[in-house]
Amino acid sequence: MSRRKLVVGNWKMNGLKAQLAEVEAIGRVAAEHPAVEVGLCVPATLIMAAAERKGAAFIGGQDCHMNASGAHTGCLSAEMLAEAGAEWIIVGHSERREAQGETDEHVAAKAFAAKAAGLKVILCVGESLDVRDAGDAESVVSAQLLASLPEGAAADWLAIAYEPIWAIGTGRIPTMEAVAAMHAALRASLASRIGGQADAMRILYGGSMNGDNAAELMALADVDGGLVGGASLTAEKFAPIIAAAG
Ligand code: PEP
Repeated sequence: MSRRKLVVGNWKMNGLKAQLAEVEAIGRVAAEHPAVEVGLCVPATLIMAAAERKGAAFIGGQDCHMNASGAHTGCLSAEMLAEAGAEWIIVGHSERREAQGETDEHVAAKAFAAKAAGLKVILCVGESLDVRDAGDAESVVSAQLLASLPEGAAADWLAIAYEPIWAIGTGRIPTMEAVAAMHAALRASLASRIGGQADAMRILYGGSMNGDNAAELMALADVDGGLVGGASLTAEKFAPIIAAAG
């Protein structure tokens, strides 16, 4: 099964209007690589302006509320983000699971709400260093994935991002063998739940991906792209990763 590579930047809590020039530059890089689906998940405050400058890239958000509206001070619904110009949304990032106490059930509900608002979803899973060192990474992350999977999960609106927590922002990555084994395990878990859809669903790797390691990571059979933090903040750093994808 050939799956179109998906390379998405996660700007986290970085980016003011001055960085919109980087959005434009990354949009131009995306246009040079039409075989790759390229996107930037920017802070919500930038979505509207970024959507006007995105070129061949798409713009996404980094979280949404699980409810469509209501008394949730400071939160944003999926519909609000879609109206602002988001086409994709990240849910279940480990920084939110850890700092905001998001559970697998919350993540599944957010993904479901996003789909209902017409957004596509990147659902993040990943293990802590303790779990990796104990040799339990594949079973723990597979269980996390199945518990976080929304009803109706399908490859045309959902992608998975495997992000070992200990690799995020640290410059460390698992061995290629470990990444390959994890992605194969996750695809098998998906197949047990959603059958044939599992073959078409993209599973991204995230965690210290950069221009030096991206090609090797994305050459692995079940690695269908990347979710990229620090190295997506400038076109200069992001371009080699996009190029490595195709
Ligand atoms: C992330 O937080 O999604 C991420 C992959 O970050 P970094 O690339 O900076 O490790």
